Amino acid sequence: MKRKREKEILLVALGGNALIRKGHEATIEEQFETLRTPLRQIARLSEYYRIIITHGNGPQVGDLLLRQECCKKIPELPLEILVAQTQGQIGYMIESTLDTEMMTMRACAHKPLVSLISYVVVDEKDPSFKNPSKPIGSFYSKEAAAALPFRTVKTAKGYRRVVASPRPITIVEKFEIKKLIEMDFIIICCGGGGIPVIREGRTFCGVQAVIDKDLASAKLAEEVGVDIFMIATDVDGAAIHYGQPGQQFLREMTIKEAARYLEEGHFPPGSMGPKVLSAMEFVRNGGKRAVITSIEAIEKAVEGKAGTEITKSI
Ligand code: ADP
Ligand code: MG
Repeated sequence: MKRKREKEILLVALGGNALIRKGHEATIEEQFETLRTPLRQIARLSEYYRIIITHGNGPQVGDLLLRQECCKKIPELPLEILVAQTQGQIGYMIESTLDTEMMTMRACAHKPLVSLISYVVVDEKDPSFKNPSKPIGSFYSKEAAAALPFRTVKTAKGYRRVVASPRPITIVEKFEIKKLIEMDFIIICCGGGGIPVIREGRTFCGVQAVIDKDLASAKLAEEVGVDIFMIATDVDGAAIHYGQPGQQFLREMTIKEAARYLEEGHFPPGSMGPKVLSAMEFVRNGGKRAVITSIEAIEKAVEGKAGTEITKSI
């Protein structure tokens, strides 16, 4: 293992299932309990690595949107405010659970933790603003959807609101995050892909959009100089022929192979696609290791014994 001064930086991007298992309603108590699986592993890893945690917020933003629909007495909040709210909510849940896990591990010296409200700059000319395609929030019938004041799209379970999902350009707080990492803080940031902002001269202005948390995490990993970029989700890794005969989870794929599988449609947009793209981008830009794995196998994946590792073409 590395000595303290030389500790590598590990970024773990936690999927929404780190709190709520897909298709389940979960109480806050259950969400705290579910969080212990990844965070117990991260607590142990924090002895050997400097840690950054990012996280999704899909179900939580969905709940906040539904709350707004149910209560017309107070003015509606724009999407970027809802993203900010979920950063606070989930940041608190991760921070307090991780703190407890570290305190209960006798061997582990206490590490300072901080959750950071994070902005991510996007381009107002990003094509996704003209052609929003990211479904969020509740499901509606065709008739209900037609009466809504926003654009919707038909999905397998009904109509949903669609918003722009622009590419992340830069993480506004990257210098602060770097400094905190140098001081061996564990940082929770870029929640829900970050609060989307555009530059207006020397200031920033929030926009109605959501940024993919895996792409934002890859950008952060690149800008901060992370050594290991780990995407933790609810499957063992990336598979070809997923959900079909011949399904095969891959332990390793080169950037070139990943690009080919993407083109062949093995990794759909909105789920495995952005994870593979993010991992490819990180490695292509000089990152050492990028791995897609399950929430349960974060430690094993760090050891190279689980997940799908995306490697440079030889
Ligand atoms: P997260 O909340 O962790 O970002 P997503 O739902 O966005 O999770 O992405 C993970 C999902 O991607 C899996 O639950 C799986 O159903 C789906 N998926 C689609 N294609 C593949 C594939 N080729 N290999 C593995 N999983 C895939
Ligand atoms: Mg996702």
